[in-house]
Amino acid sequence: MSASIRTLDDLLAEGVSGRRVLVRADLNVPLDKQTGAITDDGRIRAVLPTLGALTEAGAKVVVCSHLGRPKGEPDPQFSLNPVAGRLGELLGTPVHFASDTVGESAQAVVAALADGEVALLENLRFNKGETSKDDAERGAFADQLAAFGDAYVDDAFGAVHRKHASVYDVPARLPHVAGRLVLREVEVLSTLTGDPERPYVVVLGGSKVSDKLAVIEALLPTVDRLLIGGGMCFTFLKAQGHEVGTSLLEKDMVETCRNLLERADGKIMLPVDVVAADAFAPDAAHDVVPADGIPSHRVGLDIGPETVAGFAAALRGSAAGGTANARTIFWNGPMGVFEMAAFANGTRGVAEAIAESDAFSVVGGGDSAAAVRALGLDEKSFGHISTGGGASLEYLEGKTLPGIAALEN
Ligand code: ADP
Ligand code: MG
Repeated sequence: MSASIRTLDDLLAEGVSGRRVLVRADLNVPLDKQTGAITDDGRIRAVLPTLGALTEAGAKVVVCSHLGRPKGEPDPQFSLNPVAGRLGELLGTPVHFASDTVGESAQAVVAALADGEVALLENLRFNKGETSKDDAERGAFADQLAAFGDAYVDDAFGAVHRKHASVYDVPARLPHVAGRLVLREVEVLSTLTGDPERPYVVVLGGSKVSDKLAVIEALLPTVDRLLIGGGMCFTFLKAQGHEVGTSLLEKDMVETCRNLLERADGKIMLPVDVVAADAFAPDAAHDVVPADGIPSHRVGLDIGPETVAGFAAALRGSAAGGTANARTIFWNGPMGVFEMAAFANGTRGVAEAIAESDAFSVVGGGDSAAAVRALGLDEKSFGHISTGGGASLEYLEGKTLPGIAALEN
């Protein structure tokens, strides 16, 4: 990390006992649409080292986060209340929940905190000021948040690419440091943008090509191979002149993809077969078809077995294919609709190949990380599982991240 950024250890060395420390965390966990239960608590666990260090040191810890995309006003389906419960279980100490973010409840909860105790404020995005494009509106909200802390810790790596009040404006108002998670994320990602060990293989999937084109552009010169699956492969297949049926397609990106393929120097690997279904549904009839022969009425929901084998060979190395073991791997985006068991094989196969390779592997992306856990893979077989999808991609693109820049000042 940049030498000018102070870290949690610097803050701890000053002593935090009895001081109020405002922690911006990323507790934006996926919730079950029917029951509202937390389906993956990885992001909560990721912030425990920072919170544990602060409570142990006797700080009064005030945690804030966003969850989902409420529209600047309270919306019960996006309440952080269930997260407070789970956070308390994991920390082994009750978490005092404030039913608003900067209102009466928050003020009372923060005022009542004892040394070593933790409070969680209600969803930041219940307030227009959090995400406002207007500096004054964001600033006014940041003033209210900053009043809850004597120091500020940013441990919300998943949000550092946002110019939001809690990430960008609060650190301008309080002594600020990077938490353990942010520090680790930046250390790992900087090895990828620096001088990664080769072969360096990147696997991209997920749903939106337009979101990820910039990262493809930025990575092409540095990677040895770029494997593309998931919903985004169909725009590339279309660019190669293939019909893709009713698969996910971003028509206005086809030309850009064609251009990228031309400049890629053979580095880009696309699927050779796909699992095509009659409908976007868990129980839809489906079979494997060649990637250049998707029937017009069918939808591609996963990469096929031959593709998985080819991708695995590129990752793990294959004597037959004359490819070397990857030494560095970055993976973002599931290879198929892994949420439906019938279309999870591609993601599982690629994830297993990454886990088995002895490369240093980084998994970035909320859904990709969730897939690793949902498929029951051992998190320890990956070098690093990033908590930030957009943030890790923007970092790899070489963009300035507002939340990191704010810590540098
Ligand atoms: P991440 O969060 O890891 O960055 P994305 O958000 O870009 O990943 O994409 C994840 C989503 O992509 C998943 O919900 C998955 O179901 C979807 N997806 C993957 N393959 C396909 C496909 N062939 N068609 C439609 N959606 C897909
Ligand atoms: Mg996602």
